[in-house]
Amino acid sequence: MNPKKRKPPDLAPNIQEDSEKLLDFVHMYCRGNHKGLSKTPLVFDYHKVPIQLEEGRELCDGCARLLKHAIIMRYLCPLDPKPKCRNCPEHCYKPEYRVAMDVVMKYVGPRLLFKR
Ligand SMILES: [Zn+2]
Repeated sequence: MNPKKRKPPDLAPNIQEDSEKLLDFVHMYCRGNHKGLSKTPLVFDYHKVPIQLEEGRELCDGCARLLKHAIIMRYLCPLDPKPKCRNCPEHCYKPEYRVAMDVVMKYVGPRLLFKR
């Protein structure tokens, strides 16, 4: 089994962009809500996922796990264009991460100014 053969090496730019947004969102949420937890600078070392993420943002363990799960699921999403996750028939997230990401989005949503 060669895990490198799963997908072509070219990465749709929207996957990279979405991953950066996910990092921003989870980081913002963690900074605002997990002040008491011990944090580690992010290392994103999933070699199967060719996404470049800024490393060194401080996340607690739970948020780091959520972020990695979200990014891997985004990368593996077979739908193009991807619908909003809440409108998606597939629901690829594990249930506990789905709940956690919902909480993150509800926190982050009103704090963002989208450029449109
Ligand atoms: Zn956190």
